[in-house]
Amino acid sequence: MGLVEGRFKDNIIVTSADYFINWARLSSIWPMGFGLACCAIEMMATGASRYDLDRLGVVFRPSPRQSDLMIVAGTVTLKMATRLKRLYEQMPEPKYVISMGCCATSGGPYWQHGYHVLKGVDRVVPVDVYVPGCPPRPESLMEGIIKLQEKIRQKTIAKRA
Ligand code: SF4
Repeated sequence: MGLVEGRFKDNIIVTSADYFINWARLSSIWPMGFGLACCAIEMMATGASRYDLDRLGVVFRPSPRQSDLMIVAGTVTLKMATRLKRLYEQMPEPKYVISMGCCATSGGPYWQHGYHVLKGVDRVVPVDVYVPGCPPRPESLMEGIIKLQEKIRQKTIAKRA
């Protein structure tokens, strides 16, 4: 018995299901690769080699069916809002949304006279994190993603008796 204890004591980790599942989810966030306006350029810069989102486990995917994060990067026109909602509905659960920039969050420079612009993407999809700016720098988007990771870490998944 002493031999078995000695053999395994450095190799066994005890944790909760919540912690383990949340850790797996927050370490492999896959955003959908699509952008709507100028904010999308900053999003692309965040994913490129200088900022290297891959080190956070964030890898852009070309299909909503393979994605668990939608980064709404840019102006959402009313015409695009219905397409955006459809893409969101095609993503599997659990899924998350980051509203990047003031256009996505509130209509931005178009909030007053932009008759064709949605005044906040949270009118069509639920938003988890808002990233301010016009446009937000890559560091801001990275902070938004880290905030989302913190939020995922706090989630309770396993049902308790
Ligand atoms: S927030 Fe500014 S940079 Fe981003 S899409 Fe709107 S106008 Fe362009």
